[in-house]
Amino acid sequence: MTDLPTDASVNTTSSHVFHRSLVNEPLLAVRAEGNYIYLKDGRKLLDGSGGAAVTNIGHGDKRVIAGILDQLQTVDYVHSGTFSNKAAEELATELTKDSGMARAIFVSGGSEAVESAIKLARQYHLEKKQPERTNFIARQQSYHGNTLGALGLCRHTARRAPFLPYFSSHFHHVSPCFAYHYKLDNESDEDYVNRLADELEAKFQELGPHTVAAFFAETIVGATSGCTPAVPGYFKAMRNVCDRHGALFVLDEIMCGIGRTGKMHAWQWEDLSSPPDIQVLGKGLGGGYASLATILISTKVINAFLAGSGSFNNGYTYQSHAVGCRAALEVLKIIKQDQLIEQCYQRGIFLQKILNEQLSNHLHVGDIRGRGLFWSVEFVKNKETKEMYPSTCLFIDSIIKECIERGVVIYPGSKGTADGICGDHVIIAPPYTITEDELAFIVDTLKVAIIVVFKSIQELA
Ligand SMILES: *Cc1c(COP(=O)(O)O)cnc(C)c1O
Repeated sequence: MTDLPTDASVNTTSSHVFHRSLVNEPLLAVRAEGNYIYLKDGRKLLDGSGGAAVTNIGHGDKRVIAGILDQLQTVDYVHSGTFSNKAAEELATELTKDSGMARAIFVSGGSEAVESAIKLARQYHLEKKQPERTNFIARQQSYHGNTLGALGLCRHTARRAPFLPYFSSHFHHVSPCFAYHYKLDNESDEDYVNRLADELEAKFQELGPHTVAAFFAETIVGATSGCTPAVPGYFKAMRNVCDRHGALFVLDEIMCGIGRTGKMHAWQWEDLSSPPDIQVLGKGLGGGYASLATILISTKVINAFLAGSGSFNNGYTYQSHAVGCRAALEVLKIIKQDQLIEQCYQRGIFLQKILNEQLSNHLHVGDIRGRGLFWSVEFVKNKETKEMYPSTCLFIDSIIKECIERGVVIYPGSKGTADGICGDHVIIAPPYTITEDELAFIVDTLKVAIIVVFKSIQELA
C-alpha cells in the first residue's frame, strides 16, 4: 500500500493542534466545494460520508454563506438569558412545524443536546412531583455522545472504556433492534419485536417502573453498529412500554435526522401515532456550516414545565447562537427549496441497488443496510456463520485509506459493530446533492478497496 504524499498531510511533529492521534497525520484540507474536498497537493476527494453524515447540501453553498454574512452584520451574539434573536425564533418555528413538537432549545453540538435531554427528562418528572424517577434506559451498541453523561448513557464500548469509573449507575441498557445479528433464524419480525418489548418491560420491572425517567434510542443506529434500522413495529412497541409506565420516549436523530433517511425525521418512517416526547438533532442540522444541535420538546413535556416551575435549570453560553441558528435556517431552506429530501430518497434507492449489485457477492460482505443516503456495509470473516474478524484485525483503516488514495472519503466503524467488541463496517452518507455518477464512483472505489484489502489479509494469513 502506498502512502499518501506527505505534502497532503499536516506535519504532526510541528503541529500545535492535539489531533485525534499524535501519530497519524490528518490530511490538510485547503478547500471544500460542492461534493468535494481539496488537498494541499491539488488532489480532490469525493465526500462520500459528509464527515460523519454532517454535510447534507454540499460544501460552500453561496446562499448559506450570504445568510451567515448577513447575520454577522446584524446580530452576531447576544446572551440567551436576556435576548432572543430572529434566526433562533425562525429556526424553532420551522423545526417545530415539521415535527409537531412544541419548542426547541439550540446548543452547540450533539453531546450537549443529549446532556440537555437527559436533564430535561429528569426535570420533567420533578415538575410532575415524581422525584423517584432517576433511571434511564438506553440500548447496547448505541452512541449518544462523548461528554460524560451522554457517554454513560450510550454503549459505545471503545469510546467508553477509559472512563468507566465516572458513569452513573442510573444508566441501564437493553438489547438493540439489530436483525442481522440478533433476530433468530426462524423468528418473524413480529416475534422479534415482542421479544424486545418483553425485555424492555422486564427492565422496567427490575428497576421499578415508577423509577424510570426515559428510554433513549437512535431511530437508526449510526456510528456504533452502522446505519441499522429497526424492524417494522419496533418503535411503536417500545413506545407502548414507555407510555404504560409514564417514562419519556426520547429519540436521538443526531446522525439520521434532517432528511438523511429520505424523510425529514427518521421516526416518520415508523408506525408512531405522535412524535417522540423529546428528540435531539445535530450534525446535518448545521449541514457543516455551523456547530449546532437542538432538543425538540413535545407539548406534553412543555405543559409539565408550564404547570410547574416554568424554567429549565440548564443553559449554555452559546445557546441559541444567532450565527449558528442562521446557518441552520439557510440549510433547512435550501433542503426544502431544492427538494433535497426527495432527491435524497431517490438517490438512496439507487445507492442501495448498486451497493447490492456490486458488493453483496463478496465473500466478506455480510450485510448491506440503511435507508435514504445512510448506508453501511458490514464485513464478516464467514458469511454463513456471521463469524467476525477478531478486534485486532484493523482492516477497516486500510479500506478507508485505499478509498482515499482513489479519491473517495467514507466513514469507518470497527471493533464493535456487532457486540461492542467485534465487527467492522464502513458508512456511506454523502450530501443529498450527490449525483448517480458520483455514487457509482464511490461504490466502484469501495469495491476495489475491499478486494485489495482482503487479498492482503489472505496473503498474511
Ligand atoms: C454524533 C452523535 C452524537 C454526538 O454528537 P456530537 O456533535 O459529536 O457531540 C450523539 N448521538 C448520535 C446518534 C450521534 O451520531
